[in-house]
Amino acid sequence: MTTPAETAEATDRWALRRVRHEVRRRVLTVTAVERLSPGMLRLVFASPDLADFVSAGFDDHIKLFFPIEGGEPAMRDYTPRSFDNAAATLVIDFAVHEAGPATAWALSAKVGDTLNIGGPRGSVLIPEALPWLVLIGDETALPAIGRRLEEAQDGETIATLAIVDAADDALAVETKAAWTPHWLVRDGSDDTQALTAALDAVLPADKEGFIWLAAEARVAKALRAHLVEVRGFSPKQIKAAGYWVRGAEGVHERIE
Ligand SMILES: Cc1cc2nc3c(=O)[nH]c(=O)nc-3n(C[C@H](O)[C@H](O)[C@H](O)COP(=O)(O)OP(=O)(O)OC[C@H]3O[C@@H](n4cnc5c(N)ncnc54)[C@H](O)[C@@H]3O)c2cc1C
Repeated sequence: MTTPAETAEATDRWALRRVRHEVRRRVLTVTAVERLSPGMLRLVFASPDLADFVSAGFDDHIKLFFPIEGGEPAMRDYTPRSFDNAAATLVIDFAVHEAGPATAWALSAKVGDTLNIGGPRGSVLIPEALPWLVLIGDETALPAIGRRLEEAQDGETIATLAIVDAADDALAVETKAAWTPHWLVRDGSDDTQALTAALDAVLPADKEGFIWLAAEARVAKALRAHLVEVRGFSPKQIKAAGYWVRGAEGVHERIE
């Protein structure tokens, strides 16, 4: 029988750790534009302001501010894909889709253009040193997934399950982890169905690890519910977020 102390210890293993950062606004200049794949555009930024940029978690987000003529700037959340304090550079990867202000700006960005950013305000760190980590998402999750893989330590076991528009949207990344990638290409079925159907191949048999997922909000909610209600994972073992909402602009939904 499991004692209450053992249960507490078991669930603490999955506890999230919150870190606050001083909120700063920075002005960045585009120094390179690179098409990573048909669906992903990489922009490299530089600024002396980046010498003390802090981002402790692979799924941190910064606010990007896009000027709107005659109105308040539009704010959108993006992942600091990588950064280098010594070189004072920051990389952001933009998934290309039906263009809102962020995507439209990125698609027309040229070397020398400037961008205002804020944050990250803080980080919500997922546990380390668990037997396995599964990362699930759509294109908007790929920057965080890529960063986590790049930051992985020797000996980590990471599986990824990602859905993209085309086979050549698959991410190329170097990692020290034992990485098992699973790529799904959309074929007309919805993302929830396709991702759910692929879970058997991705989830380890034991229930000891941690699942991170980010996708369109309804997809992320449905997957999280499936993992808890059908697969029997504890909600503590899952960090899920809606990175966008179909038909709505600039939305971020934490899913508890
Ligand atoms: C924490 C966090 C981190 C994120 N990190 C990244 C990142 O690193 N890279 C990245 O590309 N995105 C990332 N996103 C998602 C990004 O913020 C949204 O996709 C955002 O809506 C894009 O802004 P936009 O101005 O182009 O479109 P919006 O003006 O917000 O939306 C315009 C239309 O496009 C639709 N739409 C928005 N996103 C998508 C999409 N991906 N596919 C299809 N339709 C879409 C909307 O439903 C709306 O109908 C992140 C989101 C969060 C919450």
